[in-house]
Amino acid sequence: MSPPQQQPATRVLLVEDNPGDADLVTLALGEAEAGAFELEQVARISDALERVRVSPAPAVILLDLTLPDAFGLEGLRQLGEAAPHVPVVVLTGTDGSLGAAALQAGAQDYLLKGAVEVAVLTRALRYAIERHAHASRARLLAEERAARAAAEGARERMSLLAAASTAVTHSLEDRHALASLASAVVPRFADWCAIRRNDTDGEGPEWVTAHRDEARAAGVAASLDAILATPGSSCGPAAVVASGRAELHQDMASNSTPSPWRAMLEELGTPSAIVVPVCLAQDVLGVMVLAASDRRFGPDDLDIAEEIGRRAGIAIANCRLYREARLAVAARDEFLNVAAHELRTPVTVLQLKLQQVALKQQASICGTCDRAVPADYSGAARQISRLGQLIESLLDVSRIASGAKLEREDVDLCDLARDAVNRLRELASRSGSAVVLRCGEPVRGTWDRLALDRVFVNLILNAVKFGAGRSVEVRVGNAGDQAVIEVEDHGIGISASDIGRIFAQFERAVSTRHFGGMGLGLYITRCLVEQQSGKISVTSEPGHGSVFMVRLPRAAPAAPKET
Ligand code: ADP
Repeated sequence: MSPPQQQPATRVLLVEDNPGDADLVTLALGEAEAGAFELEQVARISDALERVRVSPAPAVILLDLTLPDAFGLEGLRQLGEAAPHVPVVVLTGTDGSLGAAALQAGAQDYLLKGAVEVAVLTRALRYAIERHAHASRARLLAEERAARAAAEGARERMSLLAAASTAVTHSLEDRHALASLASAVVPRFADWCAIRRNDTDGEGPEWVTAHRDEARAAGVAASLDAILATPGSSCGPAAVVASGRAELHQDMASNSTPSPWRAMLEELGTPSAIVVPVCLAQDVLGVMVLAASDRRFGPDDLDIAEEIGRRAGIAIANCRLYREARLAVAARDEFLNVAAHELRTPVTVLQLKLQQVALKQQASICGTCDRAVPADYSGAARQISRLGQLIESLLDVSRIASGAKLEREDVDLCDLARDAVNRLRELASRSGSAVVLRCGEPVRGTWDRLALDRVFVNLILNAVKFGAGRSVEVRVGNAGDQAVIEVEDHGIGISASDIGRIFAQFERAVSTRHFGGMGLGLYITRCLVEQQSGKISVTSEPGHGSVFMVRLPRAAPAAPKET
């Protein structure tokens, strides 16, 4: 059997200047079990303060309250600050009242100097150490609980704010964004939430509300409207909009001042409420009210609510910007449309006039001979035709942007292709390209004639422009319930890395120095094809040419059933 382990001696620091009293303590401890205590003595509080800073610290301090450099509870206070982890037992005179005051001030126990004998002293020292350790553990536990509760609270607040942030991104229409925000905070933060924009433009109900009990949401909105209509309220939504300052009404039930605001909250059964401005920087864009029945909002909740109010402000501002941007884009499209229409007529007239002038000039030179039209005139005619193409592109873009409806009719694609090829043949031959049409049997379907004419023209013009003066072939055929158009050239081709982007707006795979253009032709073509449920694709080999292929379902898709 191993021998019982020797407990280490309990280190006692005696702070006592009176040698007689110090002897009494020394004697009493001397009678205690051998090796149980190790006594060290200092006579001044300054020495005691120095000692407790040195390791190993005493396990307990016996403190006289009348020292040369500290009187009464002063020494206890100083020791408490310097060594809060060391318990103190005070030694007082015969008057126990100072001892009681010392207990209040943090001492673990007190002993009357006249009654210092071994049993009392050792018990007092051991209890003091035990009690102090217990109190420290309890304090640590309480601190840990408080820290855990604070962390839980912080996590919940973060998660609430994250939910609020996500909610406001649900829609670019502010009523929907605010409704989703209100739903995100009810019921986890409040029993009901109501948000109102200042400039509701008279559309729809003014308050966006969410209530734990959905059936009561409309009632909340009606009560808030009534409050807004009550003149001179010193608190509540109107006051918050006017001042831009948030209000915390912790418990209206215990507020003795009668007011319409208090009456409303009580009537709705939610005596605790927060009212915050919905703002963007300094601008108050609206107001948000949050109310609860079974909790009392506090200052932390007010901070959170203000943060949520700011998110609502950002949502309103974003929706407003989006609305304005859409209006601006619509105005631009409208302008493009009008401008392109207005430009089209004078350009067509100019084209005709130029032809007439050229013919007259030719006649004045050699009568009815077939000498070519003078170069100046054909140059001008080319520029005017180019201007015409650009105007057509502008019109196409604005038609697509405004979502113009298709004019479907029975069309033979071969007829359409022949017509386009004939119109463009002369222009192509000027670039050295011969355009050949291959079309056997008729290819019929229900399509928008004008749109498909634009598709042919755009693809043929590109094939000529990028065709390096070589021949261009246009093929039209049937493939089951689809029509297939192919336009093939043997020109510069397109690299694989560019193929993915050339069908997008303003995308080009060549430099403007070598080839003019706005990067709109293929975008327009794709939109016109897709509007008719078709698909466009391209296969190409740089330096060898390209084949653009369009597939179009021949029948118009069935109209959606009316419900
Ligand atoms: P634009 O011709 O005005 O540049 P498009 O939208 O019609 O605009 O064409 C986009 C780009 O696609 C062109 O700039 C060119 O780089 C490429 N591209 C179109 N058609 C051809 C083609 N047949 N051969 C080679 N590249 C082409």
